[in-house]
Amino acid sequence: MADILVYALHYEGAFNKNSLGAVSEGAKLAAALGGEAHAVVVGDGATDELCATLGRYGARRVYRVAGPEGLAQPVVDAMAALVGEHHFSYALFGGGLLGFEIGAGLAARLGAGVAMEVTAVRVVDGRLVAERPILGDSAISEISYRSDVGIVIGRLNAFEIAAPGDLDAPVEEVVVAFSEFSTRARMLSRGEQRGEDVDIEGADILVAGGRGLGKAESFELCSELAKAFGPGSAVAATRAVVDAGWYPYAGQIGQTGKTVSPKLYFAAGISGAIQHKVGMQGSENIVAVNKDANAPIFEFADLGIVGDLNKILPKLTAALRARREG
Ligand SMILES: Cc1cc2nc3c(=O)[nH]c(=O)nc-3n(C[C@H](O)[C@H](O)[C@H](O)COP(=O)(O)OP(=O)(O)OC[C@H]3O[C@@H](n4cnc5c(N)ncnc54)[C@H](O)[C@@H]3O)c2cc1C
Repeated sequence: MADILVYALHYEGAFNKNSLGAVSEGAKLAAALGGEAHAVVVGDGATDELCATLGRYGARRVYRVAGPEGLAQPVVDAMAALVGEHHFSYALFGGGLLGFEIGAGLAARLGAGVAMEVTAVRVVDGRLVAERPILGDSAISEISYRSDVGIVIGRLNAFEIAAPGDLDAPVEEVVVAFSEFSTRARMLSRGEQRGEDVDIEGADILVAGGRGLGKAESFELCSELAKAFGPGSAVAATRAVVDAGWYPYAGQIGQTGKTVSPKLYFAAGISGAIQHKVGMQGSENIVAVNKDANAPIFEFADLGIVGDLNKILPKLTAALRARREG
């Protein structure tokens, strides 16, 4: 029997999607291990009612710890105390920057093994085995744990949210003595760091850029083309370029991003990986520019243009502008 402790992040009265996925995954895995998934929520803003709703995603108990919200070190203190007291075998995180920071801190504190960027977890012989894509997602490595406690940090939104049940979880108030160094940082403000103005779900025309753009600055080619298409157009991106910091996450399409179905989806320098395809295959018309005639995107594009986007996009932009002006 092995129990799993799952961290759930809340913001403005709701748990984020990523945390609900982690709780759902934790519950599924704990059941397969013959144990239970419990959740921990840290922060003064989380009400009992809100915490209890994690039961609907499979948490059998929720520990509510009063303390600063949205900072990693107090959560490390809280989770280390809970793991020590209740002997959890695993700690599970949905990922995201905070999840990575807390998971890594907890691993160091407990001397525990940690797997990051995990996209799937299986139970093998009564123990968890985590799968992590490597080599630019072209291969999967399998990670099992030798330590007493194993830490699993998912890739952002990699874990599916279970259909909510109607059973609320009991909420237990836990008092944690935070380390002196854990309370040195103070949260001054919280919000969407970047990309809050990117609205790709409502756009009729999307110009999406991929790694074929070569550098962040080349997104300008996509912006110019979107502007030339006129109102109702927006710029979107693949995960590869979002991970590289070339474009905000709010503009990411795909399995771990948004699902879109615009009238026109224009792909520039995008290979058409399955994880991207699932987020845009419902588009009415798909046009792709790629210099590789064998790129998978051509298998499902309505119109394919084989060539260098650096030459093709400016020409298309100029042609659209001329048409609008003329
Ligand atoms: C669990 C999981 C979840 C994932 N979630 C997502 C997701 O939500 N969204 C997503 O997009 N990906 C996701 N991925 C990643 C996905 O597998 C791909 O790695 C990613 O979509 C590739 O992005 P890309 O097409 O921009 O880059 P690449 O695959 O590197 O393709 C770049 C393309 O540009 C072309 N090119 C290069 N130069 C030029 C040029 N000058 N002119 C024209 N074409 C050019 C190349 O021929 C190539 O086809 C996920 C992966 C995993 C494992």
